[in-house]
Amino acid sequence: MNDTSSPFPPNAAAAHARLAEFALHAGADYAKKRNFDLGAGAHRHVSTLSPYLRMKVLDEADVCRAVLSRMDPRDADKFIAEVWWRTYWKGWMEQRPAVWAAYRDDLTRLHNEVQTQSGLRARWEAACLGQTGIKPFDHWAQELVQTGYLHNHARMWFASIWIFTLELPWQLGADFFLRHLLDGDAAVNTLSWRWVAGIQTRGKTYLADAGNIAKFTDGRFVGTQGLAQNAAPVSAPPPPERQPLPEITPYAGAPADRVGLLLHSDDLGAPFLERIGVTPASVAFLDCTAAQSPWQSAPMVVEFRTALARDVWPHVQILDTEDGIHSWVEEQGLDHIVAPHAPVGSARSALRRHRKTDKTPVSEVRREIDSAAWPLATAGFFKFRKHIPDLLDRFAG
Ligand SMILES: Cc1cc2nc3c(=O)[nH]c(=O)nc-3n(C[C@H](O)[C@H](O)[C@H](O)COP(=O)(O)OP(=O)(O)OC[C@H]3O[C@@H](n4cnc5c(N)ncnc54)[C@H](O)[C@@H]3O)c2cc1C
Repeated sequence: MNDTSSPFPPNAAAAHARLAEFALHAGADYAKKRNFDLGAGAHRHVSTLSPYLRMKVLDEADVCRAVLSRMDPRDADKFIAEVWWRTYWKGWMEQRPAVWAAYRDDLTRLHNEVQTQSGLRARWEAACLGQTGIKPFDHWAQELVQTGYLHNHARMWFASIWIFTLELPWQLGADFFLRHLLDGDAAVNTLSWRWVAGIQTRGKTYLADAGNIAKFTDGRFVGTQGLAQNAAPVSAPPPPERQPLPEITPYAGAPADRVGLLLHSDDLGAPFLERIGVTPASVAFLDCTAAQSPWQSAPMVVEFRTALARDVWPHVQILDTEDGIHSWVEEQGLDHIVAPHAPVGSARSALRRHRKTDKTPVSEVRREIDSAAWPLATAGFFKFRKHIPDLLDRFAG
């Protein structure tokens, strides 16, 4: 990936520069224009910070602090709420991991059906290649594959057309996104697709409308024909009971221990190192992108994530499968692994599988902001939203 031409340079300096520049526009500008999708290279009404937030090169507190240092909280209300939507989805999924497990089971079944049912395979391929004949949909499929990003409104329209017009299973669409989005996230992506399908807010679906697409693409796609006129909610079992956040094993090694720091695509950040006061003997990055789908993920996503890891930790050792953890521990003579907490998703599954086959103790460290905010995702976002002022006082003051 070429740093100068990519819209998402894989380095922390670019993330901080983008935040500093966008923070000036996070007020009325954002509230008024954020729904306009002007196309690749012109996403100037939104921050495009998500690939960096996804890997925690920035966290929600960093973003809110930067914005609130430049404007009154009331002016930034809309933007701040969107930032906390991410936290809300993460917390919701963290307390209901069975939703991710069910999605993964569905995907295994659908992977088999795509291989064995030629009709389904042809419709799925046409959608992924952007060859359905629905002009804006085909455009977004190609924009996603080429750039690794889609505007939020385009994601909503795309998911709606996928489910209600093309009548394809929502799980296959979520998988297509996860394989291509630089910000592809197990919780945010799965729950957003469920939301469009009418599963997440039960009975409330999102129907893409030709007039709305024409208006909010600034006339780029006028008179789209053939869109579904109704969106009956997709049937699904009710959500599982909420369960507490997983226990984490605090680091309690001896001072002479050789500690390995194991980063992964859910957290590249460093603040926990200061808290536990260890100097790692070795640093590794476990890239779990390949494990997130039965199909191959886009090389662009893997390259972005590993390049960002190398930028933040210049001497990092890249491990592309969990089998690499064992060799890393052996080669480096490690007594203990410390890792940032891995939320629901492929990094958590990889760490769990590793623990079953290797006795080296692994301690996870969860960020305070996540420990505080995630349990607040008890019901809908509007209940969660009431806690935002407190969270801002505590973490972004
Ligand atoms: C079907 C579908 C799938 C999605 N999949 C993902 C995904 O895999 N990963 C992901 O990070 N976001 C996902 N989103 C949410 C949202 O589209 C993106 O976070 C947003 O478009 C990122 O662009 P931005 O950084 O320019 O957003 P901005 O509008 O500038 O918002 C700033 C930040 O707030 C957060 N945010 C904004 N909107 C949302 C939202 N609706 N839900 C949750 N967080 C939000 C993001 O972290 C974002 O970077 C999905 C939305 C839909 C409808």
